[in-house]
Amino acid sequence: KTVTADDIRKSVEDNDVRFLRLAFTDINGTLKAVEVPKSQLEKVLSNDIRFDGSSIDGFVRLQESDMVLYPDLSTWAVLPWTDVRGGKIGRLICSVHMTNREPFPGDPRNNLERVLGEMKKMGYTQFDIGFEAEFHLFKLDDKGNWTTEVPDHASYFDLTSNDEGASCRRDIVETLESIGFEVEAAHHEVGDGQQEIDFKFDDALTTADRVQIFKMVVRAVARRHNLFATFMAKPIQGQAGNGMHTNMSMFKGKRNVFYNKNNKYHLSDEALYFLNGILEHARAITAIGDPTVNSYKRLIPGFEAPVYISWAAKNRSPLVRVPSAGELNTRLELRSVDPTANPYLLLAACLTAGLNGIKEAKKPMKPVTSNVFEMSEDERKKLGIKPLPSTLHNAIKAFKADKVIQSALGEHLTKSFIDSKELEWSQYTQSVSDWERNKYMGY
Ligand code: GLU
Ligand code: MG
Ligand code: MG
Repeated sequence: KTVTADDIRKSVEDNDVRFLRLAFTDINGTLKAVEVPKSQLEKVLSNDIRFDGSSIDGFVRLQESDMVLYPDLSTWAVLPWTDVRGGKIGRLICSVHMTNREPFPGDPRNNLERVLGEMKKMGYTQFDIGFEAEFHLFKLDDKGNWTTEVPDHASYFDLTSNDEGASCRRDIVETLESIGFEVEAAHHEVGDGQQEIDFKFDDALTTADRVQIFKMVVRAVARRHNLFATFMAKPIQGQAGNGMHTNMSMFKGKRNVFYNKNNKYHLSDEALYFLNGILEHARAITAIGDPTVNSYKRLIPGFEAPVYISWAAKNRSPLVRVPSAGELNTRLELRSVDPTANPYLLLAACLTAGLNGIKEAKKPMKPVTSNVFEMSEDERKKLGIKPLPSTLHNAIKAFKADKVIQSALGEHLTKSFIDSKELEWSQYTQSVSDWERNKYMGY
């Protein structure tokens, strides 16, 4: 739907909005915001709010630090909580531009728009995305800091639990609905304290914006219940981790080009080529979809997370699954991604890999019908099934070797991404953990 400047002026008056929060996302996927009082509304609407970008991760060098915010008016929402004096906060998601008014290439959102433009040049009109983001809730201590104590010990789809976790989940769902989300499913997940809330799929840019707001709402509502929400990939050793399954389909007008009723899996040739592109670039995509040291502690056998590069219609162990669905919902589900991924970078990478697959027009490997974890290494080799990277370090190496996925990010973001992740890895290799002390102290 289109929202005009006048709609926003009216909404500000009607809802007693006193502050405007202008949000954008840094290289690590963290939502940042500049907040201005209502008196600045006209400046906001005429793309005239400036800020110093030099302290934002992955942004700019000191000598070129001034940035301008271009709000996307269609993202307007009045946040459902009030500030200290009773007024409301209005929120807009922005693109970051330079002072010469050009879109800033280091802004992940601008970059996704650029890649969507490449898709349109190939004749497709929309890339649709549905995310399934999982998270954990932990109790807070007296000082308001997180603990590792969970509020419940319920399990998958457990609807009988009436604990603080369940009531927090319901509160999150209602809060999301009050700001325009269509929540399709919400349930307890397999792990202790683990939850999942799914909202309806939409075009890639809208969905990337929404998942950023989703995470903000989940964290804020959890705090009101004296809980701490985390999207880290593997918060509890030996239990299920948090995935963010990424469901993808592509449209020409009203037609889902991934659908062909005559194919066994209801996948069109274009879908199979797209799938092959994803599989071929899976190792580099993993650097973006699973961007933390901890992400790789989730990608291990036994917890419904993928470890090998394969695809299948039914079982849950492959990297890409084809859920059974009707024409409009025919899609590819990428299961490696976790919710610490920067959604803008992730979708730019997946789309570029898929479009590249369509250009190459090669069919993917055969789907895997048996459990990949139960195969011997030789059997996997024979079927051409390779592993995903086992560490962040190996994933960065794969990213550095993949020109196609680098082109998905563009030069600026590629450099900031590599710098940021190499720093993270080197910090990790220098840390000494409890595991090491427990293992080696007696040596
Ligand atoms: N929690 C699982 C993961 O780490 C996914 C479970 C599911 O299939 O929903 O990916
Ligand atoms: Mg799930
Ligand atoms: Mg799923």
